[in-house]
Amino acid sequence: MHRYFWLILFLSFLIVPTNAQPTSILITNGTVIDGTGTKGKGADVRIVGDQIVEIGKLKPKPDEQIIDAKNLIVAPGFIDIHNHSESGLESQPTANSQILQGITTLAVGPDGESPWPIGDYLRRREEKIPAVNVLAFVGHATVRHKVMGNDFKRPATKVEIEQMVALVEQAMREGAVGLSSGLEYDVGYPSKTEEVIALARVAAKHGGIYMTHMRDESDSMLTALQEAIRIGREAKIPVQISHIKMGTVGVWGKALEAVQLIEEARREGLDITADCYPYDAWSSTITVLVPSRKHDNPVDVAKGLNDVGGAANVTITNCSHHREYEGKTLEQLATEQQTTAVTMYMQIVKDGGASVVCRSMIDKDIETFYRQPWVMVSSDGGINGRHPRGAGTFPRVLGRYVREKKWLKLQEAVRKMTSMPAARVGLKDRGVIRVGARADIVIFNAKTVVDQATFTKPFEAPIGIVHVFVNGEQVVRDSKVSGATPGRVLSKK
Ligand SMILES: [Zn+2]
Repeated sequence: MHRYFWLILFLSFLIVPTNAQPTSILITNGTVIDGTGTKGKGADVRIVGDQIVEIGKLKPKPDEQIIDAKNLIVAPGFIDIHNHSESGLESQPTANSQILQGITTLAVGPDGESPWPIGDYLRRREEKIPAVNVLAFVGHATVRHKVMGNDFKRPATKVEIEQMVALVEQAMREGAVGLSSGLEYDVGYPSKTEEVIALARVAAKHGGIYMTHMRDESDSMLTALQEAIRIGREAKIPVQISHIKMGTVGVWGKALEAVQLIEEARREGLDITADCYPYDAWSSTITVLVPSRKHDNPVDVAKGLNDVGGAANVTITNCSHHREYEGKTLEQLATEQQTTAVTMYMQIVKDGGASVVCRSMIDKDIETFYRQPWVMVSSDGGINGRHPRGAGTFPRVLGRYVREKKWLKLQEAVRKMTSMPAARVGLKDRGVIRVGARADIVIFNAKTVVDQATFTKPFEAPIGIVHVFVNGEQVVRDSKVSGATPGRVLSKK
């Protein structure tokens, strides 16, 4: 063999391509906000492959790609714990509206509705790789519907609950990070608390969390919150309150009461946190407006509309049988059709319903929630969402709540977008800028960053998010989508 040594050595130079070394990228001149809540400081960051390998005063190496982050903030990529891009990732893996606002990891399957089976969904994401990292929750309504079919308008039997338990068990084994519920929606609403506790116990056993769109976000919000806390206590599971809000006139200004309930539970030793989106309007199905579900009862409908401050606050966004209603408020439609808003509501529900955006929160409550150290940022949006939160959430918090209103310090807002959600779903090497962490990074201009999406133009990209890296690959360059799809499935397995 000896005589071939030089030949083999020579050939090996021919065979090994020069780019076999992982790419080295130096982000220089920036201010690093590391995601832990610590104040920003000037430092360079070196990425090799998918990892952050050095932080400090660094000299460029030959052939190294340089990103000049002068006057810019270098932060961990944003992690969205409540995201509706489940089908969007299939139709648009580049996830444009998500990465353009700095999201590098998102969790699908919130509000009780998830893909099924979770294993197949996650496998599909490994075949058709998206630009962002993906996590999945298993939905309570999803397994409930699987077991009960269309006969779901009643409490489940013991046997049915056992069947649901088996399905949650399967989903957790396949990589779900927890159980989500949407107890305000049709399929979840008839369930008893005990049913949810039984399923949450399974998620707890696998180290998952319970994330809930509570049974009520309006007049009975505080009661619903007590139910969520009880589920956490009895199932011994961390609880995440989804998009915490005070959604009706009757509870406006009472955010502090909700905060006190949660603080009390936390003092008891329960692990309760929440997330909040930065908008005073929610987006859902029109029937959510009438919690009694008596959609043909004029008294209940009138109360529902009054509770959100009147029919002028309700805009139809999607109505498959009356496209001409879209973009108009219930009040406008009633005036046009020379009827009352109550009649208009009843007619729309009878014809098959609609999606609505409803402006029914006040800034004071949103501020109270955001100021709590256990409240993080989430979008409740997604790739094709018609609510502007789908494209604007994270830059909106940075621009409007940090820079303009000064509710939060920049480093605290970044923590709420990064290390906090990372810890919630058990991601140990993301959500922070430190040596050894995965290179999910967003580089933004703190002086200009702000959302541009509105209810009439929900897809407008934000400004000020300059560069975004996912697993060391650049997905946004100079505020433009690069087309790279380096995302990964971050399952619990
Ligand atoms: Zn929800």
